[in-house]
Order: sequence, then structure tokens, then C-alpha cells
Amino acid sequence: MTMTPEKLVELAKEAMNHAYVPYSGYRVGAALLCADGTVYQGCNIENAAYSPTVCAERTAFFKAVYDGHRDFSAIAVCGGKDGHITGLFPPCGVCRQVMAEFCGKDFPIYLVHPTGYEKRTLEQLLPLGFSSGEHMTGE
Ligand SMILES: [Zn+2]
Repeated sequence: MTMTPEKLVELAKEAMNHAYVPYSGYRVGAALLCADGTVYQGCNIENAAYSPTVCAERTAFFKAVYDGHRDFSAIAVCGGKDGHITGLFPPCGVCRQVMAEFCGKDFPIYLVHPTGYEKRTLEQLLPLGFSSGEHMTGE
């Protein structure tokens, strides 16, 4: 089965149902496509102490990395209050940095909105990002 952006978006929406958000009520879902076609879904997981909270994107990446994946093809991200998508829910800076650890500057990020999605690249979302030199540099 070929994974399309549309299918990846649907999996990100489904992932919102798994969110643990007793404090904000904002459900976020991510669907990360690995180079071999495997998809990892992630949700945000909040914490009473706030700072241990983790985002949907990092949940997806860390699940995949634990399972041995290092090459990724795309990610779809969506979110909204009580799971209702009313606008874009772009990745936070920390998640963009995690993406930069494993993905090149052309890594596609599909930002879901109420009627579809917008495609961005990692370079667009993290210009001049810090890296060890393996991925984001090398013009
Ligand atoms: Zn984040």
C-alpha cells in the first residue's frame, strides 16, 4: 500500500483520540512515515507538573526510533481544542529540533487544517537550525 499525504493526515487525526490532555484539552495527533513504509502515530501526553508533557510529534519519533527506524519520509500533524481542528497546529521548536536530528531539510511536514493540509519543509519551519552537520547543513 502506498502511503499518500491524505492517508497520513487521516492517521494523524485518528491519533488525536489517544491524547492525554486533562489540563489543556488540546488534542494533538501526529503520523510519522518511515522510509520503509511503516507509520508511527503519536499523541500529546500532558502532566500535572507541565514540563514533563510531551508532544505528539516526539511521541511518534521516539516510538519509531526505539523500534530501530532512523530514516523518515514525512509527518502529518493536527490538533485542536477537544479534538476539533480549527486551524494549523504547527510543531513546537523542540519537536522541530528532534526532526532535525533525523531528517533532512526537505523533510515534508503536512500541517492539517479544517479542509485539508498545507505542506511545509523542515527547512521552512527550522531555518538555520542547529545540527551536528549531517542533515540540515550541506547546501
Ligand atoms: Zn512539540
